[in-house]
Amino acid sequence: MSAPRDQHFLIDQRAVDKIAGFVDVSGRRVLEIGPGEGVLTRALLDRGARVVAIEIDPALVDELEFLFADEVAKGNLEIIPGDATKVDFPPFDIAVANLPYSASSEITFRLLESGFEVAVLMYQKEFARRMIAQPGTRGVGRLSVMVQTYASVKPLLELSPNAFRPKPQVRSWVVRITPHEPPYPLADRRIYADVVRVLFSYRRKTIRKGLQSGKNTFEATAVEQAIADLPDDLLRQRPENLSLEEFALIANRMSGC
Ligand code: SAM
Repeated sequence: MSAPRDQHFLIDQRAVDKIAGFVDVSGRRVLEIGPGEGVLTRALLDRGARVVAIEIDPALVDELEFLFADEVAKGNLEIIPGDATKVDFPPFDIAVANLPYSASSEITFRLLESGFEVAVLMYQKEFARRMIAQPGTRGVGRLSVMVQTYASVKPLLELSPNAFRPKPQVRSWVVRITPHEPPYPLADRRIYADVVRVLFSYRRKTIRKGLQSGKNTFEATAVEQAIADLPDDLLRQRPENLSLEEFALIANRMSGC
């Protein structure tokens, strides 16, 4: 069983120092999601960051406001009470967080949509492996394709359950995420996201059948036109084997380009 609200607090100070030190945060606006008891917050402030932290648990918000009263008064720390899957993100340059694992996907996509320079984020190991999975390998899916379209992901550190209190049941990875423009031009990013989502929701079907199954998302005429235009050997593939370039090609045909 995982702890309520994914509250596994880092107790390994060496890991905390590494995470806070992977990128230079001095003088930068750093967004931290789920500060918990503030161990990472403290390390970021010590390195000269100006931190905005979003925490869902009101009891922890009170504790943080007490512990960090000086930094809040000096304007180096702002604590936003709320759910990071819902509240508006403030402007920030860098994100550093030991993320709540059950909201990892939603928070990662929200971060990518809001734009940032670089992020150092901790995930459940299996989740992070899916982020970097390549076509035709285990774990490839919507997450891998969407993340790799908009960012590069580099694993930095693996942590065992012993680094946390209470111990989670899984190992964790810290990764660096650096956003970039899509490697292949996308005519319509919304249609690209829909194509990737629909095709992986029918992951055992061929591309042809997957597109035809997306009746609730796509216009029938757009599907017919795209199927007429796309090469037959591509339409016979399954989504798990496609490259980013092939997803872009399908989405651009669906956008009428
Ligand atoms: N950063 C701390 C550390 O490393 O010790 C705590 C990390 S703990 C894995 C996740 C934290 O995220 C908890 O403090 C939890 O209350 C908070 N949290 C869980 N879901 C959240 C959400 N949707 N929005 C904001 N904070 C959330």
